[in-house]
Amino acid sequence: MSRPTLVAGNWKMHGSLAANLSLLTALRAGVTPALKPQVAVCVPTPYLAQVQSVLAGSPIAWGAQDVSEHAQGAYTGEISAGMLQDFGCRYTLVGHSERRAYHHETDAQVAAKAEAALKIGLTPILCVGETLEEREADATTQVVTRQLDAIIARLGAAGLSKSVIAYEPVWAIGTGKTATPQQAQAVHAMIRACIAQVDGTVADRLQILYGGSMKPANAKELMGQPDIDGGLIGGAALVATDFLAICNNA
Ligand code: PEP
Repeated sequence: MSRPTLVAGNWKMHGSLAANLSLLTALRAGVTPALKPQVAVCVPTPYLAQVQSVLAGSPIAWGAQDVSEHAQGAYTGEISAGMLQDFGCRYTLVGHSERRAYHHETDAQVAAKAEAALKIGLTPILCVGETLEEREADATTQVVTRQLDAIIARLGAAGLSKSVIAYEPVWAIGTGKTATPQQAQAVHAMIRACIAQVDGTVADRLQILYGGSMKPANAKELMGQPDIDGGLIGGAALVATDFLAICNNA
């Protein structure tokens, strides 16, 4: 089945009002309604108002990089899904490996965050992936399945049907090392098969993005794989010409 392609940028903790304006202006000019993929940028939360004002009315969607599992309350520093919705977000990343590693987010917490996002109508981009150690120990399937199981248990088929999954091998993020198209395809197919055990139709329709040093030179081949439905782009999303080239290769 053919699924729409999504190219989403993850700006991580980069940007300034001035730098964002020039990047967003270039993206707005380059992403026309005729462009094949859906395009989104996930930006640092303080810049959501700016991004909303510059991108409003364009075909580019925007989102955050994390969301609280709580709706409101005494959670200093946290940002709720409702707050993201106030700034027009369509997406939020959930469970990025940097959140899992540096903020000790557990599989259960990632699933709870995804549920909080869905409750408000945001589309969670659920990040899963193994470390280099885990891949070398032949534990990729086991780790990714464990991460998925927590999500499946909490969201069920209904929640998954409104979510996006991003397979991001941790060893390929920001390292310049990309999974080969065959390595990535194998894990994507495994993820789809895992979801198919819950609901075949949801699995067929699910967008599964690849993330990890995607760049203009490798984007076409990666996104040409049968189970790769787009990309989650870190470093290359900060350079308008690179991000647009990836969009044009999708
Ligand atoms: C990411 O941070 O999600 C990512 C894929 O980063 P990079 O493209 O820089 O590897």
